Amino acid sequence: MSDAPIYNERSLLPWQTDQWQRLFAAKRKSRLPHALLLTGSAGLGKSHFAHLLAASLLCDNHQESDTPCGECKGCRLVRADTHPDYTLITPEEPGKAIKIDVIREFTQRGALTSQSGGYKAIIIEPADALNTAAANSLLKTLEEPVERTLMILVTANAGRLPATIRSRCQQYHFTPPSSASAIAWLNQHIKGSDPALLLSLASGAPLLALKYATEGALDERSQMLGELKDLFNKKGSPITVALRWSKLEQASVIKWFSGWVIDLIRVKFASESADIINIDQREHLQALSRKVNSRKLYALMDRLFEANRTQGAQLNTQMQLESLLLDWADIGVE
Ligand SMILES: [Zn+2]
Repeated sequence: MSDAPIYNERSLLPWQTDQWQRLFAAKRKSRLPHALLLTGSAGLGKSHFAHLLAASLLCDNHQESDTPCGECKGCRLVRADTHPDYTLITPEEPGKAIKIDVIREFTQRGALTSQSGGYKAIIIEPADALNTAAANSLLKTLEEPVERTLMILVTANAGRLPATIRSRCQQYHFTPPSSASAIAWLNQHIKGSDPALLLSLASGAPLLALKYATEGALDERSQMLGELKDLFNKKGSPITVALRWSKLEQASVIKWFSGWVIDLIRVKFASESADIINIDQREHLQALSRKVNSRKLYALMDRLFEANRTQGAQLNTQMQLESLLLDWADIGVE
């Protein structure tokens, strides 16, 4: 999500104002922490906040708002990812671990001190990708902080970080903004999509909703839901659908599929007006919920949770999808 954002890279996202002001109030009192841990679910702009903060510390022009000017040498170097006092540590490939060599390289004593006499900012993202050795190496650095050097750890899974690391960082937790303000923000950035639906599918995270809008996720979801409806009505083949789905991004496939099953459970057992994810499908879900077998529905949900938990570890994605879709096609009340 950090690549080429549509929103202005220099401006603060409106729901992050409190955290920003708190941080800069501390900076004015020379009480900026040495290590920050930015937490909260994906799509809330933690990455953007971290980058903006680093850029702001390295900006040569002080701004009233404390946001970076975007034009000075410092800002240009940060944008080009070549500022000597700016380091972004990420896994070599998404989903892989951050290894100890990388942490060692950036946390040696000399490497931790600013070259220009100002601040130094090191972003580690996602921090939960640190393997044990790398986390231990980082811990030593956190125990001996360097003046004017700020470590910014970013994670949507703070629970996966060692408690020893967490306790040495000042935590800033981000939560979804109110749906009214998120929709107002989305309306400024997307045209022609339903912001309320996008936001619901994104669990209230505005940047994730924006990503869905720009990547055509609504079309992908519509097609998948259409296939699920057909399979339920004994149209089409689970094998053909599994073959098509196996070529899509598996995280989205499992997410849309399980969201559908969770919604069915909610309207069937909570109430027909229960909070659901697929808000544009309520009538269809209500009708369908009267025709599904409860025991099979729960069993399928368990299998989808398991599929989500073991993502990337399956030997045969297509076979797993086939099996899940066969269960779905057979979910009707006998
Ligand atoms: Zn600047």
